[in-house]
Amino acid sequence: MASVYDRHVDLDGFMEGVKKRNPGQTEFIQAVQEVAQDVFDFIEDKEAYHSAQILRRIAEPDRVVSFRVCWEDDNHNIRVQRGWRVQNNNAIGPYKGGIRFHPSVTESVLKFLAFEQTFKNSLTGLPMGGGKGGSNFNPKGKSDSEVMRFCQSFMTELYRHIGPDTDVPAGDIGVGGREIGYMFGQYKRITNRWEGVLTGKALEYGGSQMRPEATGYGAVYFLRNMLKHQSKDIEGHTTVISGSGNVATHAAEKIVELGGKVLTLSDSDGFVHDPDGFSQDKIDWVKELKTKRRGRISEYCDEFKSATFHGDGARPWNVKADLALPCATQNELNEDEAKALVDNGVIAVSEGANMPTTLDGIKVFHDAHIMYGPGKAANAGGVAVSGLEMSQNAERISWNNERLGSMLTELMEGIHEKCVEYGSQGSDGYVDYVKGANIAGFKKVADAMLAFGVV
Ligand code: NDP
Repeated sequence: MASVYDRHVDLDGFMEGVKKRNPGQTEFIQAVQEVAQDVFDFIEDKEAYHSAQILRRIAEPDRVVSFRVCWEDDNHNIRVQRGWRVQNNNAIGPYKGGIRFHPSVTESVLKFLAFEQTFKNSLTGLPMGGGKGGSNFNPKGKSDSEVMRFCQSFMTELYRHIGPDTDVPAGDIGVGGREIGYMFGQYKRITNRWEGVLTGKALEYGGSQMRPEATGYGAVYFLRNMLKHQSKDIEGHTTVISGSGNVATHAAEKIVELGGKVLTLSDSDGFVHDPDGFSQDKIDWVKELKTKRRGRISEYCDEFKSATFHGDGARPWNVKADLALPCATQNELNEDEAKALVDNGVIAVSEGANMPTTLDGIKVFHDAHIMYGPGKAANAGGVAVSGLEMSQNAERISWNNERLGSMLTELMEGIHEKCVEYGSQGSDGYVDYVKGANIAGFKKVADAMLAFGVV
């Protein structure tokens, strides 16, 4: 068997090395596998990438910072959590990627997200490297004061590792406007500097128009681009969406605006199916439920009698629909669920979440030749507008909603074009968007790394 140091090691040998070096880190290994299979094909005849061990280097984070986060709850108990920042690769710009607060956060989850982010950020065409951070802290059920104390303690360590030219975190699952506000306030207090060190800020203190909407809207723009490529449209089509957070509710809003019908939303308890469709008023109600009252999606059925709730963590993929937008979390759509979608006639899947479909599920979509937009391309609108928030902060200006809206539309078109350029297969017009995104994302980072030599 080839050694991992062999410059011509094959895919199996390479993955064997990844598994050996990252024992038990299943999400990270899954993410590397998904990229490696496409990149190996691409670099087969490109000696420079082999001899410089580029993929091996991208799959080894620049650094992983792990730290203790102590805080006091409302009953004066001392609580201890773990925090991390994974800085994967800064070849093309400062590290950039969200912060996730959720009990399921582990080093493996953050390493997979930082790895994916490296390719996603490259695809946007903006100068941003890949990073991700977070904690196993669960904000659910905590008071505002508890969340504030946790965020302040988290930033008291994190501030040493970030900066506007070093690493610029943003929100993610469990980190929205409230948490960003607490963390930015603490950074400013410790450093005595106002600088664009976090994105996803509120408009009053340097946030960007269009940032809250950007990921969900962008995933729908990507879907529209895929459909247009096959002379189809969103209008008149039914859609199943998972999640009910920032990405899901904004995706739902854009689908409705473009004439589609949204049938489902979900959270970790289960999903609601509303055969009448989610109108803008109903989506506004869900946004209020989730961000202000911090309630559960099942409460929707008490308010809107047309809907039914399916509990025990049920997911919406067995509901018949033309389009699907997974917008909750990783590995939330498996092989059987992908088959159910295909059997029910789904024509396109656009991922608002990061790595929501398992590798077996992706294979089902590919074999059925349905349009499948992976998260690293389809949900890149969020980080793209974060990049624009950084530019506005650096220039001390703010652009208006209209300008940012058309920039987002153009950025998503550009990402779609790159995927088509590197992912087009055969004469039937089928595009392998995973391959397209992986190769286009890889190439820019790899070429920058080649220019730097061995560092
Ligand atoms: P939010 O915290 O706003 O919402 C997350 C949603 O997903 C909630 O409805 C939550 O339900 C549900 N969820 C979380 N974990 C699970 C789980 N284990 N099983 C089932 N449902 C779950 O997060 P976002 O909307 O910001 O993020 C959603 C996805 O989009 C993530 O994969 C994130 O990485 C990705 N993403 C987000 C970006 C952004 O700009 N926000 C940018 C790019 C990608 P519950 O309330 O029960 O926890």
